[in-house]
Order: sequence, then C-alpha cells, then structure tokens
Amino acid sequence: MNNALTREEERARELERLRAELKEAQEELEEVLQELEDKPEFGLGVGSPRLYDWEMNLARRDLLLERIAMLEEAIERLEKGQYGICEVCGNPIEPERLELFPETTLCATCARERSRRRR
Ligand SMILES: [Zn+2]
Repeated sequence: MNNALTREEERARELERLRAELKEAQEELEEVLQELEDKPEFGLGVGSPRLYDWEMNLARRDLLLERIAMLEEAIERLEKGQYGICEVCGNPIEPERLELFPETTLCATCARERSRRRR
C-alpha cells in the first residue's frame, strides 16, 4: 500500500479542479466587467430595466471578486500542503464539506461555531 502517493495524487487533482474553477470565475468576471462598461444613463429613471441589469452586474462582480480571492487562497494553501486542514482546530476538514465549499478553511464544527458567534 502506498497511501502517501494516493494522497499526493488527490491533492494534484484537487489543485487542478480549483485552478479550472478559478479560470472560469476570471472569465466570467471579464464578461461582467465588459458589460459594466456599458453603463446606462441615470436619466432613464429609477426602475429602468437596464439600470437594474447594471446593478445586478455590479453585485455579480463583487461576488466574483470575492470568489476569486478565496480560490486563490485555497490554491496557495494546497500548494503549501495545508489544504483541507481546519485553520482553527487543525483537524482535517470533512471531504463532503470540501466538495461543497472548496475554499473553506474551517471544519464543519468550527464553521458552525463561527457563524453562531457572528449572529
Ligand atoms: Zn475545526
């Protein structure tokens, strides 16, 4: 049995997946930024559908920027070999959780604890 190699392979595959996701997010961001350049006149009045679209794109851009930053962080951690380790308790993060939130830095227990404190 060579578990170390398997883990290393898993890490490489995960890294590849995150990089693909990052690329996708960056491409989407570029699209959004282009659409944002075409800003409608505010003279169209409040509630104009085009203005609404523009504001939606603005919100999308912010979400994408956040996502890109998180993915870049996850990639960096993975490259350093810290990926999948909870930054609070140091335990491995549940694989199902990583699948849902590849950029998470907390295990389920610590994440629950943190969101409870934020409320
Ligand atoms: Zn934890």
